Amino acid sequence: MGGLENTDRVPTRKCGRCSTRGGSGTLVRMNESRMTTLGFASHSPTGALEPFQFARRVPGDRDVHIRVEYCGICHSDIHYARGEWGPAMYPCVPGHEIIGRVVATGRDVKRFRTGQRVGVGCFVDSCRVCPTCEAGEENHCEAGVSMTYGSPDGDGRTPTFGGYSGQIVVDEHFVLEVPKSLDPAGAAPLLCAGITTYSPLRALGIGPGSRVGVMGLGGLGHIAIRLAASFGAEVTVFSHSPEKEADAARLGASAFAATHQPGALDGHLGRYDAIVDTISATHDINGALGCLKTGGTLVLVGGPPEPLALAAFSLIAGRRKIAGSLVGGIPETQEMLDHCGKHGITSDIEMIAPGQINEAWERTLRGDVRYRFVIDCRDL
Ligand code: NAP
Ligand code: ZN
Ligand code: ZN
Repeated sequence: MGGLENTDRVPTRKCGRCSTRGGSGTLVRMNESRMTTLGFASHSPTGALEPFQFARRVPGDRDVHIRVEYCGICHSDIHYARGEWGPAMYPCVPGHEIIGRVVATGRDVKRFRTGQRVGVGCFVDSCRVCPTCEAGEENHCEAGVSMTYGSPDGDGRTPTFGGYSGQIVVDEHFVLEVPKSLDPAGAAPLLCAGITTYSPLRALGIGPGSRVGVMGLGGLGHIAIRLAASFGAEVTVFSHSPEKEADAARLGASAFAATHQPGALDGHLGRYDAIVDTISATHDINGALGCLKTGGTLVLVGGPPEPLALAAFSLIAGRRKIAGSLVGGIPETQEMLDHCGKHGITSDIEMIAPGQINEAWERTLRGDVRYRFVIDCRDL
């Protein structure tokens, strides 16, 4: 285990086979080049997630070894593992909203120390040298970003495994500092839902006086409301679930359009600078485009598996724009976490045990969560 520094600043249990120390209940076993951990994996598009023991690489000089404490359940985990976006790599250990504590750091790690609370989001590697990586947009790396799960790992065949697990090893470049003021379980969803909504709101210059629409009040949507409100924008929620109206107001929205009702958009036409569309299923976007001001932008962040129908005149009239956005780069993710730390922004969560993941996925699909499931990974 050359290059690892271990200290006793967190409750630890020394591993019998290596110098790594894991948190209580941690399974850390080493052979020459790997260590094993427990996670939950799906093995096919239709199968349930099951307990799965697998190997993590032994931390190298630039790696941070993290004991996972909490991991959010993002709707993308379900789309991906069920093959809705194309063939998945199996076994699939999902999870990219990861909060944990550092248990060991490689020799060259500068920004992190043992015991520190940290986060890992949607990707864990990139080339670091292409123009987009150099601009801090590793999420769009020209050589292809390594996602936290479901990307080919070093050997080109083994998939990366995500945060529905007890341990993870990540190059320090892709590890985030988590403000101490934030509840760690509530902060986990910020690592995907937070940055995915923060980035387009920032890119569109949302601030005081802006009018923002949020389509879909789910995991992404509820954080989008909090973020847009924290930037000083006036926020309207477009939702097909009328029972969420009171929550929309509590989260910071000043208006609510119940989209299942005929005429729901009548009072909203031509009003919005930006609309962030977080809907996970096929839906109409032409009505929402009509709600934009001249030159306004609808940003798709939701990833419905089927194509959406676009009427050309929804854009032509009013010189409107449609855009997409994929999470955000590492510098912007850190900026988002710091912003959330300053403004006390976390996710509304329902904590579950790992054995409840399959039920939580079904409930997510039914819209039966307010507003994010977070897995308590401390016993994995
Ligand atoms: P979620 O918690 O399930 O929320 C999705 C929301 O969409 C629901 O709460 C619901 O809101 C609305 N919705 C669902 N089915 C609908 C239907 N048939 N018609 C109209 N509205 C419907 O999901 P999430 O975790 O927030 O993720 C949302 C989407 O973003 C997913 O597709 C996910 O893969 C994607 N995503 C993309 C990125 C990125 O980088 N671009 C990152 C993360 C996630 P109402 O009940 O309010 O209508
Ligand atoms: Zn996600
Ligand atoms: Zn790159």
